Amino acid sequence: MTDTDDSRLGITVLGSTGSIGRQTLDVVRAFPNHFRVVALAARGNIALLAEQAREFAPEIVAYTSDDPTTQAQAAELLPNALHGVDGLTAAATHPAVKTVVAATSGLIGLRPTLDAMRAGKTIALANKETLVMAGHLVMAEARAAGVAILPVDSEHSALWQCLHGERTAEVRRLLITASGGPLRRATLEEMRDVTVEQALAHPTWQMGQKITIDSATLVNKGLEVVEAHWLYDMPYDKIEVVVHPQSIIHSMVEFVDDSIKMQASLPSMHLPIQYALSYPTRLSREATALSHPLSWPAVGHLDFEAVDMARFPCLRLAYEAGRRGGTAPAVLVGADEQAVPLFLRGKIRLTDIAAILEDVLARHTVVDDPDLETVLAACSWAQDEVLRLHGEPTASHERSSL
Ligand code: NDP
Ligand code: MG
Repeated sequence: MTDTDDSRLGITVLGSTGSIGRQTLDVVRAFPNHFRVVALAARGNIALLAEQAREFAPEIVAYTSDDPTTQAQAAELLPNALHGVDGLTAAATHPAVKTVVAATSGLIGLRPTLDAMRAGKTIALANKETLVMAGHLVMAEARAAGVAILPVDSEHSALWQCLHGERTAEVRRLLITASGGPLRRATLEEMRDVTVEQALAHPTWQMGQKITIDSATLVNKGLEVVEAHWLYDMPYDKIEVVVHPQSIIHSMVEFVDDSIKMQASLPSMHLPIQYALSYPTRLSREATALSHPLSWPAVGHLDFEAVDMARFPCLRLAYEAGRRGGTAPAVLVGADEQAVPLFLRGKIRLTDIAAILEDVLARHTVVDDPDLETVLAACSWAQDEVLRLHGEPTASHERSSL
């Protein structure tokens, strides 16, 4: 079959070996007549990337790791793979691609995502840093290129679905739900002593390590607030977070007439990924391995509570950084990017993360309306600042390719 007679949606998966990437491939596997994989990209999990390449036969495979052992493994298992961030861009801009699933963790995906938009690709966006750090640039680029940014994150997918057919002026507020993470009920004292294992034990979602720790501190929810601000053009005063431990209601929109729309499903990322790929169609899952209908009697009851900002100061800091704008969100992202690994390596307590974010934000002189270089420089400065304050070697050279 040639490209021209293949009506399936051609997709690139940036971060195909990660949690979102693997679930995206589950969706492709479930709907082989609707989607086809044109390109796959990851960092260094070559064994899995090679397995995925065998199964999906993409036209481009790319990886970025500079580790010599990884490169030797790639030379053996994926001899035609592209290497480096240019490989990610080639994957994201291939002519046969309609939609790029941006699901790398961290900052690496920002440039390839902007390149994909300039090449007219639809973006199915999972990566949070992209909008949080550079929302003003990304949304302007999307408008200029006339491309859509479709949310993959469950909360933003829910908001998007609730906003279909509605007028922005008639929205009173967006209510983003938060499971509360593994420490929802923990006291501040208990939070101070929480182990890495406890913080990684998320009650409702299976995710990568960084986002799981961000869910324990509610940094993740804060990043989602900033993303919602950009995606739906809402002021921060109209975006609220409500704790909902069961993760069945994925978010809600309240309108000026007091009506509230909410979107519900059992917690699974397959659904928002599938919807971002199939939109505006809904594909029936009845005969697929993904079928996972919700039974209300089995759910029984739904609970909601207010967020305790005193125990979750990271959420307040994210609101503050978002409201301040400019380079402040990039500094929040950079500081968190280094603080989380320090916690995972046992160098700091979980509760130190908020103190680090607050401290680094306070040391930063915000630049308004920054260009991409300035955004990346602010983020990089924040990363180095965290490492320097904790006596760790700084690693700017590793980020020079961003
Ligand atoms: P994972 O850590 O599970 O996966 C990250 C993926 O990105 C892997 O494929 C990894 O490759 C790849 N990657 C990381 N760094 C690089 C790099 N320098 N170059 C190329 N590829 C790279 O993360 P998740 O899947 O959990 O999350 C991905 C993004 O989606 C994050 O930004 C997260 O916040 C967001 N998100 C995740 C959700 C979830 O449920 N997991 C929900 C909503 C948003 P390798 O395996 O080879 O290292
Ligand atoms: Mg989410």
